[in-house]
Amino acid sequence: MTYQWATATHQGRVRRNNQDAAHPAASGRADGPVLVAVADGMGGHVAGEVASRIAVDEAVAASGSPAERVLAANAAIIEEVRRRPDLAGMGTTMTLIDLGSDGVARGAHVGDSRAYLLRDGALRQLTTDHTVVGEYVAAGRITADEARTHPQRNMLTRALGLVPELDVDTFEERLVPGDRLLLCSDGLTSMLPEETVAELLRGGDPEPAAWTLVEKANEAGGQDNITVVVVDVS
Ligand code: MG
Repeated sequence: MTYQWATATHQGRVRRNNQDAAHPAASGRADGPVLVAVADGMGGHVAGEVASRIAVDEAVAASGSPAERVLAANAAIIEEVRRRPDLAGMGTTMTLIDLGSDGVARGAHVGDSRAYLLRDGALRQLTTDHTVVGEYVAAGRITADEARTHPQRNMLTRALGLVPELDVDTFEERLVPGDRLLLCSDGLTSMLPEETVAELLRGGDPEPAAWTLVEKANEAGGQDNITVVVVDVS
């Protein structure tokens, strides 16, 4: 299996800094295994940026399953707060996929960044949002579209950096040539409805597709940092 990926990240039109982090930083193409990840940091001053950067670096450097990588990232953030109490309270989301040479995508996920699979033109979310609102959606109390503008949409129920015993979701997907994966921070999905994301993802190479998503999220308001990784499978 060959993977071709592109990463695009932008601070948006409101925030003064970009607390998102992604891996790989540059576009590329390779046979598996390839690791892709998005992290959306939170915390005052520089803390959010520090948390998401540690998370991505640590997860990439770690070994083991995707969940073990996320747990290593979680431990590293907690350790950094122990060393630097001024960073207390920092945390981050993490959505990570290990794209295997066997054509299987193995993912691990905490928070409200998302992974999607576009197959035969249809977009399917592979992750569940760990937010108060995400739990309402899962319980059928509100729709995904109502969740997008709900006042409590940013309240996470899980994040890296807060407790050592972190509950990590995992998922697995056998890929076929023609599949396209999207990893993104909530700065994309809070600005654009899913139908629009699906429409913008159909066609074109990963690089223009990734930047078009960022541009459209900014046109829709750009209220948050926007990060996307688009991966084509062939
Ligand atoms: Mg965000």
